[in-house]
Amino acid sequence: MSPAHRVIDPGNLECARCHRPMRLATREPTPARGKVLTVVRRWPDGMICSGCTAAAQETFGTCPGCHTHRMLPGRNPTGQPCCTDCAGMPAMVCARCGAEGWMELRGVCGRCVLIDRLTIALDDGTGRIRPELTALADRLAAMPRPRTGILWLNKPHVKPVLHAIATGQVPLTHDGLTTLQPVACVSYVRKLLVAAGTLPDYDHHLDRFERWLPGWLASIANTDQRAILTRYATWHLLRHLRNAAARSPLDPYRQQTARHQARVAATFLTWLDSHQHTLETCTQALLDSRLASTNYSDNVATRTFLTWAIRARVAPRLTLPPPPRGKTFTISQAQRLQVLRRLLSDDTMPTADRVIGTLILLYAQSLQRILALRTSDITTTRDDVTLTLPGGNVPVPAPFDALLRAHLAERAHQLPPAANPDSDWLFPGRLAGLAIQPNGVRQRLQNLGIPNAPGRCRALRELVLQAPPALIAPLLGFNTANAEKIAAEAGNTWQHYAPGDHTRLAGNR
Ligand SMILES: [Zn+2]
Ligand SMILES: [Zn+2]
Ligand SMILES: [Zn+2]
Repeated sequence: MSPAHRVIDPGNLECARCHRPMRLATREPTPARGKVLTVVRRWPDGMICSGCTAAAQETFGTCPGCHTHRMLPGRNPTGQPCCTDCAGMPAMVCARCGAEGWMELRGVCGRCVLIDRLTIALDDGTGRIRPELTALADRLAAMPRPRTGILWLNKPHVKPVLHAIATGQVPLTHDGLTTLQPVACVSYVRKLLVAAGTLPDYDHHLDRFERWLPGWLASIANTDQRAILTRYATWHLLRHLRNAAARSPLDPYRQQTARHQARVAATFLTWLDSHQHTLETCTQALLDSRLASTNYSDNVATRTFLTWAIRARVAPRLTLPPPPRGKTFTISQAQRLQVLRRLLSDDTMPTADRVIGTLILLYAQSLQRILALRTSDITTTRDDVTLTLPGGNVPVPAPFDALLRAHLAERAHQLPPAANPDSDWLFPGRLAGLAIQPNGVRQRLQNLGIPNAPGRCRALRELVLQAPPALIAPLLGFNTANAEKIAAEAGNTWQHYAPGDHTRLAGNR
């Protein structure tokens, strides 16, 4: 482990493990070679870059040389990870706690440093962690990779939030947390506090709506309109959300729909005002002309508002004309195959997006259902990948199985910093305990021409019945080694799966 700057640069250095170009720390950048890393370690197998050094000190397992379970930062002659003793490397043992691991400071491991930093960040003013926050501290300190926790604590907005909670600047309650900024960081800490058992469970999406509503109402300039909208939002929209949340956790669509309903109600009142009318004086002719000129989703939201307003007697007894027919979505088999081909071949797309799109198109599942999958819904053996859907187990045929395996491998390395270590979402999101949120994914899938809106899966389901997953690879021209055997076996399984309850499978929102 001699410091890199004492070594004479032999030129054209590359990392012995990842083979990316490197330079010694003292040299000027060499732009002709693209992104150039810095040598940080000289280990028996060569010069190692910072990324590989970190990964090596976070690799644990049974050493193939001495069969002990410990850190495996070295490489044996056949290139397998092995322990420091078997690799002939200096020991990497924390002088403080005696454990092997990532050394954050000279001789002190990342976990010890993380615990020090947490003790400062959660200090209640007495030099110790506020007693109610020890469960949070323990949870953070136990994360698999302490380095990510240290990086998280170094972010400028994290310390003020933790300090405010630790010193009692705000009450240690959901309401108290609501007064803190920035929202993303606070949501994250809140989820951790819930996961640690410090705060009672709460509904993330209900909370978002409750926090959004007061500010939005305050932004309505017309006081009469604001009064009506306050009643509508509080007694209709919020009450429905709360009732739904009491039954089961809200999904993000519900919260967004409620916001949309509130905004459309406000737009309708403004429109009435521009015609010198109020809700009280609204005529049937005005209502009919408004409903005839709005798009489908605004029409539905306007109706919801008027149904409430008539019942609450803030609008006269108007008649609501029959609702418009929803947009129908069509996708042809050729389009389905074309998009699947692109998902298979375009490795510039994030793997998670490719897997999500593939599962939607192969099995006609809604985006929501795909995002609700857990890692336990995937079974991998050396030869097969099986997916558990509500209708039963379905095989994932080649070449799609490789994509799913790649996602599982990436997922294991990409859990976000300080994420709930128990999270087993197949597509874990940035917030502890939550899966990826659908907004961004939905837009990217739509750009690809993938139907994922609720209720639009029926068209896709027809196509799946015509060409089940196992038949797709041959249709795309993929010659898998035993395609026929796979197709025969998978076809059987699919036969059992396909005649099930399609309406239930096709996204029952
Ligand atoms: Zn490397
Ligand atoms: Zn060993
Ligand atoms: Zn230590």
